Amino acid sequence: MNLASWLTRSGLSHPHMPAAALGPRVVMTYGELALRAARLAGALRDKLKLQPGDRVAIAAKNAPEYLTLLYAVWHAGCAAVPANAKLHGAELGYILEHSGARICFASKGLDADIAPHAPSSLERMIVIGGAEYDALFAADAIDVVPCAGDELAWLFYTSGTTGRPKGAMLTHRNIAIASYAYGAEVDPVTPGDAILHAAPMSHGSGLYIMQHVARLGVQIVPESGAFEPDEIFALFDRWPNISMFAAPTMIKRLVDSAAECNANNIRTLIWGGAPMYVEDCLKALDRFGPRLAQIYGQGESPMTIATLTRQDIAERDHPRWRERLASAGKPYACVDVIVAGADGQALPAGETGEILVGGDVVMAGYWRNEAATEESLRGGYLHTGDVGAFDAEGYLTLKDRSKDLIISGGSNIYPREIEEVLLTHPAVREVSVIGRPDADWGEAVVAYVVGAAAAAELDALCLARIARFKRPKDYVFVDALPKNNYGKILKTELRALDARRK
Ligand code: AMP
Repeated sequence: MNLASWLTRSGLSHPHMPAAALGPRVVMTYGELALRAARLAGALRDKLKLQPGDRVAIAAKNAPEYLTLLYAVWHAGCAAVPANAKLHGAELGYILEHSGARICFASKGLDADIAPHAPSSLERMIVIGGAEYDALFAADAIDVVPCAGDELAWLFYTSGTTGRPKGAMLTHRNIAIASYAYGAEVDPVTPGDAILHAAPMSHGSGLYIMQHVARLGVQIVPESGAFEPDEIFALFDRWPNISMFAAPTMIKRLVDSAAECNANNIRTLIWGGAPMYVEDCLKALDRFGPRLAQIYGQGESPMTIATLTRQDIAERDHPRWRERLASAGKPYACVDVIVAGADGQALPAGETGEILVGGDVVMAGYWRNEAATEESLRGGYLHTGDVGAFDAEGYLTLKDRSKDLIISGGSNIYPREIEEVLLTHPAVREVSVIGRPDADWGEAVVAYVVGAAAAAELDALCLARIARFKRPKDYVFVDALPKNNYGKILKTELRALDARRK
């Protein structure tokens, strides 16, 4: 089953339904989108001489054309390599070289950034919306190239919070299952529902395209190309039944925005990709009402490991409501999730270990990296590198990435626990806790804080809520925390910054 057939069918059955919009305006119907994808696929095959299985990079900012490109690549039986437009030219060059992409479709302007770093394997860079691009649509439409479920659909480059990004090989089956899982457990899409792509379509938001194509949703791309709460709220007003995937930092910006928002049009705001602290979650619930869901996933198990549903988040009178809010929810039905000890065996509820995932949504491996594939998929499970624990009711709480764990005086300390406490102080806006090498303790707990709280107040807060040995030994007040393009706090960079301070 080729994912491209979902678009072909929607185009045939409902050619006049809106498929894509730029801001408030519909720019493509399903009939138009399906035809454009089929013609561009024809050009890929007949003019550019691509073969099934060839990689085609999309180095593009969010745009309605993203849909055309992704589906054309699949339609021609090729694999897409979406690359984040916010990366540096050299980083994009690395992805182009590593993936062996023959063609790169680039947003206007990005082509110049990439050019000095373009590898010799790249045959052509085509500017999206340029004359060469437009001319490709003169090709004859072709039929969808059949492909098996285990063929490569999307080479998903990880965000590379440590070292070089790796290319997770996502197959047509992986993405089909992830799409079904969304519909079954996060939010069933009904025809005409809107999905707003404010987060990068090269990453999580892009993985919410397919279920909306299959179910005739309309995909909205903000006009500004940026994340502006005013614009997002205006789009919520314009499009009924609108959903959006966002990083917790984006949700936080919406919550903090003074702009007016009528929440009634919002269907679901889904966050994931990084922890949402309980205090922030409560504020979001107050502002937007029971329209929130959380997903926990990884490029290697796309958007699909565990989910905290709207009901879980909204169930204020449940005795364990707050604990559940701090969790990543329950595993999706399509995956096996175990919390494993060092020997790889499942631990009982309440014990902390590495989160392992099995199932048909788990990637086929890392592209051209056998060693990393073997390491990551050993024993038939994806080793997420995340540490967590199940509670007795089956909810999974993430502690931290294993490498972010602090070992002080021989005790394991999970930064997240301390961060949750510090964030309850009204003057703390953001916080990140790391371990600093220490001659006496091995590592000492250090808190980096954005906000105007006094260190003594924060210390008192910790004393009242957590064990003494977990209290930060030092508080460093900063204007901002280092983050990557997806809004994830870069603890590795923070540790390096911390080392340089002394
Ligand atoms: P990426 O592959 O770039 O999407 O990064 C995946 C990683 O982000 C996971 O392994 C987790 O460490 C983190 N992550 C993803 N979703 C969540 C979530 N809902 N809560 C906390 N951390 C998350």
